[in-house]
Amino acid sequence: MPTLAWPLQRNTIRRQLPNNTFGAVRNGGTRNHAGWDLYALPLTTCYAVADGVITTPPFSRTYGNMLLLAFQHGDRTLYAAYCHLSFAFVRNGDRVARSQPIGTTGNTGNAGTMQGEDQHLHFEIRTLKYPASGLGGRIDPAQLYGRAPINTTIVQGHGAEPPVTGVTGLRVPGYNVLP
Ligand SMILES: [Zn+2]
Repeated sequence: MPTLAWPLQRNTIRRQLPNNTFGAVRNGGTRNHAGWDLYALPLTTCYAVADGVITTPPFSRTYGNMLLLAFQHGDRTLYAAYCHLSFAFVRNGDRVARSQPIGTTGNTGNAGTMQGEDQHLHFEIRTLKYPASGLGGRIDPAQLYGRAPINTTIVQGHGAEPPVTGVTGLRVPGYNVLP
């Protein structure tokens, strides 16, 4: 099966903290984090990690604007979740190709207070499209990528960055779909 593309051009765990990787990694192992926080200033382009189909869930107070990408991995269907986004380049039901730009990072949902080095893409790999909160229905992205990009930056050449124009605000209660 083709290797997954990385979701950003430059992929590195926020502040290089294990807290921001997957698992029972917060509050001394008492609180879960269900994905990776990849450092990204708002309006950083996100890319499809594989060929697949887009779902645009309703705005969530936790995840803000999210894009879900359903893709085949071996004999199973997985879902890449891109959270706290500002803009989407795609619509519900769109079929996208690996490395296609699908949206831009932001600070929607519970990332609204994040500033500076804390701004990020919350990225999950799900086995269920809409799991409950917690780790259930997700797997560690490191299972697919080999390791978390902590204390390193993994650069993925996806091709040219699309221009982002007409941006008026980031904390939006829905998608601003760019033409
Ligand atoms: Zn997160």
